Amino acid sequence: MSYLMNTYQKPDLTFVRGEGCYVYTDKEEAYLDFTSGIGVNSLGYNHNKIVQALQQGASLMHLSNLYDTSKDEILATKLCKRTGLTNVFFANSGAEANEGAIKIARKYSYDKYGEGRHEIITLKNSFHGRTITTLKATGQDKFHTHFMPFTEGFVYATPHQPIQITSKTCAIMIEVVQGEGGVLPLDIEFVQQIANICNQNDILLIVDEIQTGVGRCGSFIASDKYNIKPDIITLAKGLGGGIPIGAVLSGDKCKDTLQLADHGSTFGGNPLSCRVANIVVDEINDSFLTKVTENGEYFLNRLLEIDSPYIKQVRGMGLMIGLELQNVSNAEIRNKCMVEKVLVLTAGNNTIRFLPPLIVEKEQIDRCVEVLKIVLN
Ligand SMILES: *Cc1c(COP(=O)(O)O)cnc(C)c1O
Repeated sequence: MSYLMNTYQKPDLTFVRGEGCYVYTDKEEAYLDFTSGIGVNSLGYNHNKIVQALQQGASLMHLSNLYDTSKDEILATKLCKRTGLTNVFFANSGAEANEGAIKIARKYSYDKYGEGRHEIITLKNSFHGRTITTLKATGQDKFHTHFMPFTEGFVYATPHQPIQITSKTCAIMIEVVQGEGGVLPLDIEFVQQIANICNQNDILLIVDEIQTGVGRCGSFIASDKYNIKPDIITLAKGLGGGIPIGAVLSGDKCKDTLQLADHGSTFGGNPLSCRVANIVVDEINDSFLTKVTENGEYFLNRLLEIDSPYIKQVRGMGLMIGLELQNVSNAEIRNKCMVEKVLVLTAGNNTIRFLPPLIVEKEQIDRCVEVLKIVLN
């Protein structure tokens, strides 16, 4: 009997601490973690600078956005310098950041064109969150059950097919690499086509970089790899290195859309989470990103070398990598990896998803590949 709601199925293990790329159970058994808390613990566990920031931040964890604590301003400045966007609103999670992005897109259009131009096109197989609105933004039918009525105004387009805008379209929202959907990178031509359509029609381009951003794909944001400049970017997961934080970044076009009292959050941008996120953003500098790219390529190539009839495709970008399986279920392979003390994730399309801490070393990648070889034979 558990007093937790039955929304997660957990293995019979209790983890009590972490160090680098490893987490330890209450029996001191080490597990190599290629999930990093679903792309969250980007600097691994027990990172000395994060620990220090947490200690230093303990005396002023929260004060509310009624007062200035400087940490949010410092973080916003860094994020804008790194992405080329203009200003930031801080939230606490990915879904909440996407809610903010949707609000900006709708208000931008309302202010300029009046009522009715409120539709947002998202892609099939996308994932944008678990609130009533972001569930509807998610382009997968299985998420549109039980909780009716959902928020209106979302239409779905198929990746790599022509996009149909209408006089009602105010934004197109995409993940450049679909994460939960199965680690599916979009083609560069398709993404650039979307960017052009947006540009030519005063439609806002929202890129959900909650999973792909903050170094995961080998550049600070994955949009950089696609040579596009979104109007809005959302970040969360890896931004806080384990501390909850989300962010909506706006470009010049919609930087003034939200005005006094248009949006808010009790916890969003609190000094503790911003202090830690500042450390994460500083650590993920150019040389760090070069290493992410190198290790990502190394990992991808090592996976490509595995000779198994169960492997259908290997794909990914940076340290966001998917291994699509056939004739065996991804859950079964994930469970078998866990028996070998390696934690991996699943994703759509019967895919095993790897999101190791960005500090992962080649030896750890080798160990993960070795275990996969054992399990796939
Ligand atoms: C995880 C994720 C979200 C939702 O983030 P939460 O913090 O769980 O609300 C939204 N979009 C993408 C692309 C994600 O990977």
